[in-house]
Amino acid sequence: MSTPANRLVLLGSTGSIGVQTLDVIDQLDDIGQTFDVIGLSAGHDSPTFRAQIDRIKPGYIAVASETDAARLQIDYPDYTVVCGDEGLIQLARLEDVHLVVNAVVGAVGLAPTLSALEADKAVALANKESLAIGGDLIRRVLNQGAGSLLSIDSEHHALYRCLGDRPIEEVARLILTASGGPFLRTPIPELNHVTPEQALTHPTWSMGKRITIDCATMVNKAFEVIGAHRLFDVPFEEIDVLIHPDSWVHSMIEFVDGSILADLGPRDMRIAIQGILCHPRRLPTRLQRLPIEQGLRIDFEPFPHERYPAFATVLNAAKAGGSAVAAMNAADEVLISRFLNREIAFTQIAAGLQVILDRWDRLIRPHEMTIDLASLTRTDRWARAQAQQIAH
Ligand code: NAD
Ligand code: MG
Repeated sequence: MSTPANRLVLLGSTGSIGVQTLDVIDQLDDIGQTFDVIGLSAGHDSPTFRAQIDRIKPGYIAVASETDAARLQIDYPDYTVVCGDEGLIQLARLEDVHLVVNAVVGAVGLAPTLSALEADKAVALANKESLAIGGDLIRRVLNQGAGSLLSIDSEHHALYRCLGDRPIEEVARLILTASGGPFLRTPIPELNHVTPEQALTHPTWSMGKRITIDCATMVNKAFEVIGAHRLFDVPFEEIDVLIHPDSWVHSMIEFVDGSILADLGPRDMRIAIQGILCHPRRLPTRLQRLPIEQGLRIDFEPFPHERYPAFATVLNAAKAGGSAVAAMNAADEVLISRFLNREIAFTQIAAGLQVILDRWDRLIRPHEMTIDLASLTRTDRWARAQAQQIAH
């Protein structure tokens, strides 16, 4: 039965997380846990998106461009088709919807996250950029008592599980694990010459392009640390990252008594997605189990900072506050696409971020008064322009 409590909207349905979310929803339906998807959004019109619309019959559809929206409206006359940033916001605020799953990639995800919370929705947030860029704005809305937010990230999901119902005062530190990405063992001088194909080959996870490159530079891990800081209200000094190449341990919490709880499981995002959709309940999955009887080894290594300079840069941006992370996120997006187009070397992503953070500190920070969506958007545009020119 469809009631407001089980109605949801899925933003970014054609991406890696979007597709896996629909799969989880199907599997849950098989065990009598029904979600009714009444809105779907994708960056653009595509056969995948149309197949989803035909199967799910969502009622509301959003795409980025007006042209795509017009074409879809002709082919789906009974549906409400909306477009652009405003379209995402409209879907995020739909009446009689309880849950908004935000799985779009990039800064475009922030406005719908805020809108959904303001409209008192539960937000299942895969779009980690929202939390990194707009953490203060999100916190402000949540503090007013509107909406609720849980992060769909395997690390954050693991932390929720390890914490359980214990108070945060009992936590000594959060320990996030990182696979190290494709270049964990590459001699550092060779990083100047690695190709987009090499960088896009993640050893343990299959994901969208942006996050895959962010895993190779560890910008992704910096965003997750910032997210953990926001979600759990734990200071940066009490959040550590360990390299764990096999990714069986999704994250850990060390408690004040010295005991550590770790969350282990298969390397499959659908565990975290289902865990957050049904939080705090645990429901069965048909996913492969962890092969613990086959002599599973669990290795940890200290985080090699010299190999991943972008990690410290992005964390320094978060500590600087204001719109610095918005600058990092926007610049990172542009630098990644320039690397993928073979215009710049892999190492210029990290170098470019540091240059832009220094410029932000000199040029933007002194004039920054209040932080709102408009000021974050201004910095986003400024940083994109900077990143286009850098390293020519
Ligand atoms: P993806 O690139 O595979 O998918 C992104 C989705 O967003 C697609 O549906 C795309 O069409 C849509 N989109 C892109 N630009 C848009 C725009 N301007 N307007 C509206 N929609 C737009 O990315 P992904 O790997 O699924 O990641 C999605 C988010 O989840 C990211 O923030 C990522 O960091 C986060 N995340 C992903 C994983 C993973 O395993 N893939 C794990 C944890 C967190
Ligand atoms: Mg993660």
